Amino acid sequence: MNAPFLHIDRTTPDRLARPKNGLATITLIIPVHNEEAAIAPFLKAVREAIDPLRERAAFEFIFVNDGSSDATLDRLIEAQRADPRINVIDLSRNFGKEAALTAGLDACDADAAIPIDVDLQDPPDVIPLLVDKWREGYEVVLAKRADRSSDSFLKQRSASLFYRVHNWIAQQKIPDDVGDFRLIDRQVIDALRSLPERRRFMKGLFAWVGFRTATVEYVRDQRIAGQSKFSGWRLWNFALEGITSFSTAPLEIWTYVGAAISALSFLYGLVIIAKTLLFGIDVPGYASLLVSVLFLGGIQLLGIGIIGQYLGRVYAEIKQRPIYIVRRVFGGGN
Ligand code: UDP
Ligand code: MG
Repeated sequence: MNAPFLHIDRTTPDRLARPKNGLATITLIIPVHNEEAAIAPFLKAVREAIDPLRERAAFEFIFVNDGSSDATLDRLIEAQRADPRINVIDLSRNFGKEAALTAGLDACDADAAIPIDVDLQDPPDVIPLLVDKWREGYEVVLAKRADRSSDSFLKQRSASLFYRVHNWIAQQKIPDDVGDFRLIDRQVIDALRSLPERRRFMKGLFAWVGFRTATVEYVRDQRIAGQSKFSGWRLWNFALEGITSFSTAPLEIWTYVGAAISALSFLYGLVIIAKTLLFGIDVPGYASLLVSVLFLGGIQLLGIGIIGQYLGRVYAEIKQRPIYIVRRVFGGGN
């Protein structure tokens, strides 16, 4: 197999020729939202990690400023002025991490990309390991969290429940405890870019496109500065997005729930008829009547709610709005 660094015969039509002394190019894609305090330590740590790889790959950075309201953009522009490898895409508002990652991938023309969080929870020390595996010929190298003890107990439990439910009902399994931090080859980037959907659950899309995949493990640290932007309600919605994007089982299950309830009701009807014939009309029955009416009412509302979840997503897709809007690009020849 060709080492990916040679790039002899990757036929991607819109691929630019990349002389750069034959060095492979790798872009770090960093979505940032209100992270003014994290940028400097992030750049320091990443530079230390990629410096030894100088002979093997040329790195560049694409920061996607996802509608920050603090001094994040200023910090990024300062960094960009000081280091020509840095590019900054400033989005017109907060579009969410998934959209920001998509913006970064769309702008990336390198041989490989590594989406990475700015809070150093995705340790830059792992980057050389990702590159090694890529060199062995894998198109996707996942970074798996060997230990999540830096996350709260609730987040760990809810994450594990999410993976279990998702992988139980979705056709494309997503690997446990793997975030967006990974290396993806040019072919994978192009495959991702060819997916037209607007609501982008990146972890699911990454899994859906497939390709030869290797895994390296790391320990997830605490965030270095600022606060997590994913808590409670947002995580719940994120989980719903994941499940509804990759499974229609919640829609279809109602066929079976309905069939089972109808069958039981039919049997119960037979019992009542038999009882009436044998013992005459029996007035009591108020409790069972009320319970069954309420139960069925609840089930029906749940079913309608789930249809609503999907319908809302169909509506969002059908409007065909862009996934993100770029306000300005700094760097990259601009
Ligand atoms: N992020 C973003 N847009 C958002 C929320 C988060 O670009 O709307 C970025 C954030 O700046 C960070 C990464 O996504 O670089 C991961 O976010 P966070 O650390 O809050 O998530 P957690 O690690 O708690 O899951
Ligand atoms: Mg984080």
